[in-house]
Amino acid sequence: MPVHVLDHPLAAHILTHLRDKTTKPATFRTLAYQLSLLLAIESTSDIETQEKLVETPLEPVLARVLARQPLVVVPILRAGLGMVQPFTDLFPDVSVGYVGLERDHETAQARSYYCKLPPLTGRHVFIVDPMLATGGSAVQAISLVKQHGARDATLVCIVCAPEGVAAVESAHPGTVIHTAALDRELNSRKYILPGLGDFGDRLYGT
Ligand code: URA
Repeated sequence: MPVHVLDHPLAAHILTHLRDKTTKPATFRTLAYQLSLLLAIESTSDIETQEKLVETPLEPVLARVLARQPLVVVPILRAGLGMVQPFTDLFPDVSVGYVGLERDHETAQARSYYCKLPPLTGRHVFIVDPMLATGGSAVQAISLVKQHGARDATLVCIVCAPEGVAAVESAHPGTVIHTAALDRELNSRKYILPGLGDFGDRLYGT
């Protein structure tokens, strides 16, 4: 499966501070934004462009702009919300869909409670979810966007567990994943090790 691990000194620096348990929510939010911005740039490196003739102050030049088909970003609520703004900042025409999947802390199973998606046929869909743990939520979210017409989706995560990557590959072979880290394993409560704890709790101070 194509798993792209972001290889940049700044990404490593930001991730280290996200992992640090003494990092407070306000700083955590800023760091999550910064790392998601790097991931947004990296994960969109192969989107389509088209030619455009422009006049520089000196002469005409045939240059390139983004193709007309706008992207769709789909955060998995609630932690995925912390990764949306970089996409809307970089791509003003982006559409935002929402998938609400909640992890039951006892069973570690994903439960769907909300789904609001624009038409996805022919669109390039980026599902954002900071922690790919068991993969249950990501698998469900990819199924939902496919049911709404997407051919596939790119998954953008901050930290992945090998178990989550394997689950996505098994359910949706060939899914491209962009992440800042591929961590060691899940613990018995399905948290990623070494990970960074509960991303949503740390983002929102709950
Ligand atoms: N979700 C989190 O926020 N953290 C984990 O380690 C796993 C799932």
